[in-house]
Amino acid sequence: MKIFNTMTREKEELSKKELKMFVCGPTVYDNSHLGHARTYIAYDIIAKYLRYRQFDLFFLVNITDVDDKIINRAAEMKKDPKDIAIQFEKTFMDDLESLRINNIDKFARASEHINEIIDQIQRLLKKKFAYETRTGVYFDITKFPDYGKLSHQNTEELKKHRIEPDNTKKHAQDFSLWKRRDASELGWDSPFGFGRPGWHIEDTAISEKYLGSRYDIHGGAIDLIFPHHEAEIAQMESVSGKKPIVSLWTHTGFLLVNGEKMSKSLGNFITIKDALKKHGPEVLRLFFSMSHYRSPINFDEVNLKQTKNTLETLYNALSVLESIGKGKDSGKEIESEVNRIKSAFIGHLDDDFNTPYAISSVFELVDLINKYASTGKKISADSKNLIGSTLMEMCGIFGILKNNANVKITEDVKKLVSERETARRKKDFKKADTIRKKLEGMGIVLEDTKTGVRWKRKL
Ligand code: AMP
Repeated sequence: MKIFNTMTREKEELSKKELKMFVCGPTVYDNSHLGHARTYIAYDIIAKYLRYRQFDLFFLVNITDVDDKIINRAAEMKKDPKDIAIQFEKTFMDDLESLRINNIDKFARASEHINEIIDQIQRLLKKKFAYETRTGVYFDITKFPDYGKLSHQNTEELKKHRIEPDNTKKHAQDFSLWKRRDASELGWDSPFGFGRPGWHIEDTAISEKYLGSRYDIHGGAIDLIFPHHEAEIAQMESVSGKKPIVSLWTHTGFLLVNGEKMSKSLGNFITIKDALKKHGPEVLRLFFSMSHYRSPINFDEVNLKQTKNTLETLYNALSVLESIGKGKDSGKEIESEVNRIKSAFIGHLDDDFNTPYAISSVFELVDLINKYASTGKKISADSKNLIGSTLMEMCGIFGILKNNANVKITEDVKKLVSERETARRKKDFKKADTIRKKLEGMGIVLEDTKTGVRWKRKL
């Protein structure tokens, strides 16, 4: 199994079975938008798949509940920053649940790790990687020659960035570890004065506590490569003296709107809640899965509508499978075809989680179902089970095809479908129509085809 490493810019083999993965969580100052969903759905699928492939995964996400953005938002809303963070953390958690993101083992709030943060800063000061000024504590990037290795920037390129302008810093690129603040603001007592932590140190204090000084996979969207992840490397590798902090650096591509990152600051966003109301979780999950996690995706309502049709095709495949006549078949032929498709599916996902290719394998299975349905060939109950369960298993990785708890047509529905058929044969179209409407009310849509009537579940 290979994963693309942003550090080496190559796909690298996963060499061990026990994996620790850390994905940067949200700054909780507003409702999350579909751009966030893009990243968290990608990691949900990655985690699901790693577990499907028998990796023993521990998946950690932090919550940035101490940040200037939260404090500014609280001031705007005339509220306590702590209440703002609690409010938007709750909406984030609700969004994850609605999107069926359920593979994270541990969420860790920055505000609950202030001691660990202070301890890490003290160690950095002691080792002289950091220095104090009257405004706070800063990391001295000249003490860490590897600074820039993740974003592949040399010293000259790094100098172009203006990070946290503050004229007490030794170098413009030094980043803050602790910000001294007035006691009236949100903050904590520390050996370096009352204040609050910088963003980057929150994450390494949390990752060190739960994963140790070195772990396997770290992720987030590409905007986090610099300065955030670069700073995490500098902090942790300096504190521990061990490298690399992370074996595999992974980054998701952006969700774009007209070529620009969907973001709160550009105002071009749609909240997860609104998108869910319009499209439901499965359309969104399938929409994102149809692009590679590292590729940018253009947000497009037309594409989302098409994705709904694609999802319908998958649901239909289940009902088409159901409608195929039962009889003796050459079991081996079907089994080997299903196995071939499943190995291709696994091969694609083993290759840096190539979800779009994996979905094309899912559609090969759908084609197989349609082939049997259109030729009128019968297949055995075992073959039907094999095809159906493989389809569900594959779709399960993407978290779709879950709305079919009662996809097996009930006896009531079967009876109504057959009554309608009889009515149609007798040309009693009024009765046939009444039954069709009744079935629609039960969430079943009928489709008259050359090989007979088929039903599908309304999405
Ligand atoms: P934030 O709350 O802004 O720190 O973002 C939380 C996570 O969502 C980070 O990994 C971001 O990089 C990611 N993210 C934010 N906007 C987008 C977007 N438009 N597309 C993909 N990921 C995003």
